[in-house]
Amino acid sequence: MTRSFRVAVVGAGPAGIYAAQELLSHDEFDIEVDVIDRLPTPYGLVRYGVAPDHPKIKSIQRALQRTFEQPRIRFLGDVEIGSALTPGDLDEVYDAVVYSTGAALGRGLEIPGEDLPGVVSANDFVSWYSAHPDTAPGFLPETLRTATAVAVIGAGNVALDVARVLVKAVPLLAETDMPQHVLDRLAASRVKDVHLVIRRGPAQAKFTSKELREFADLDDVDVVLDAALLPTDGELEALDTHARNNIAAMRLLADHHVENPARRVHFHFWSRPTRVVGEASVEALEVASVRLDDDRLVDTGDLDLIAVQGVFPAVGYASTPVGDLPFDPAIARIPHADGRILDRGQVTPGRYVAGWVKRGPSGVVGSNRQDAIATVASVLADLADAPDSTATVAAADELLASRGVHPVSYDGWLGIDQAEIALGEASGRQRTKIHEWERLRHYGADTVPS
Ligand code: NAP
Repeated sequence: MTRSFRVAVVGAGPAGIYAAQELLSHDEFDIEVDVIDRLPTPYGLVRYGVAPDHPKIKSIQRALQRTFEQPRIRFLGDVEIGSALTPGDLDEVYDAVVYSTGAALGRGLEIPGEDLPGVVSANDFVSWYSAHPDTAPGFLPETLRTATAVAVIGAGNVALDVARVLVKAVPLLAETDMPQHVLDRLAASRVKDVHLVIRRGPAQAKFTSKELREFADLDDVDVVLDAALLPTDGELEALDTHARNNIAAMRLLADHHVENPARRVHFHFWSRPTRVVGEASVEALEVASVRLDDDRLVDTGDLDLIAVQGVFPAVGYASTPVGDLPFDPAIARIPHADGRILDRGQVTPGRYVAGWVKRGPSGVVGSNRQDAIATVASVLADLADAPDSTATVAAADELLASRGVHPVSYDGWLGIDQAEIALGEASGRQRTKIHEWERLRHYGADTVPS
């Protein structure tokens, strides 16, 4: 006889949904899955991290959506584990819980001046243009209204996303689902120069070549990249494919010149930020010139000042603790062995972890699939040896009701989805995202989990 179990997945981003899909796909079990998220909307970073002008990556959402269209799965949105409910509560009503809560915090630079008005974490900036309900429309500091030059720090794709949104013509961005207040603010921006500040060299950058090449498609944006810093053909031999592709893209960018550009992007390699300079707000970024010595960055002794009025650190994400679950602050992850959560080295039965909170913020969206499958293999191995389940839907729903929690169901999410499409159509767009908690809850209400 097929054995039935109930599993909760906490976090409705790609890792969580891939885990849910994997749990549903094993015919030797009859597993029901509740996917719980703190937000009223599913899809995590696909909705709130992938750049709005990257529709191909955004379309992953359609594949994720198919998981929710299957039987035996529910979405329970607007339910925060750690406040409304605790991990201990979930242990009571599910046979297993997979935590895939991602990495919601932007890392800081830990340099003097970082608190000055005008320093904005790339993570917050991305949340703002992605209509994340935690980021108020007016959150950008006033000082940025008059900024003409800004620095974006980092050599990853988030830095490129931020730089591109800052320089791209607003009519092109209006083709996306960005909220109107974001388009209005970007249209009023006076930023002319965006300085990408990169602490290593062209061959070490984490950018991907496809994202680099996008700057060459912007016909009103000039790129300032010193070709002399790029490896020669002979030096390319020693590089891996990632670096070689990047260098090819950078050569293209070094040749991309535009007369009378609307904006400029400057690539500053071998520049380690040391201080944000300013009295009342950002006036400049101080950078130390560096070189690599056996894979270690060493200062050459030269300091430089880049005149900017805004600084966007895009230096990676960090996960945050989930309720009282074990958490290793040194690496900002939940400790685990094969996806099983460890508490002081011991496996905590029934608790698992997947995605960025398990392995750190790296890879592309699809990397989370293998990661989730690996964790689910541990879940299934443990369930195979577990006693028969006593978990019921009624018990889970009673728990939610007893805490006054009214989850947004998948049908509720579809209500939000329709409202966004209608809002977009009203102004000739495919979709305009809704960013207010109240409106998300309003359109997501009136349905029960199904
Ligand atoms: P990332 O790829 O890890 O890049 C972080 C960058 O910050 C690195 O270049 C790192 O330099 C730099 N950095 C770290 N600390 C620094 C410091 N104190 N001062 C100066 N620079 C510092 O992270 P990410 O850009 O946040 O992206 C996260 C993940 O999402 C990545 O896997 C990325 O590929 C993915 N993503 C993909 C896309 C896409 O495919 N279009 C878009 C966005 C994000 P070092 O290399 O020197 O450490």
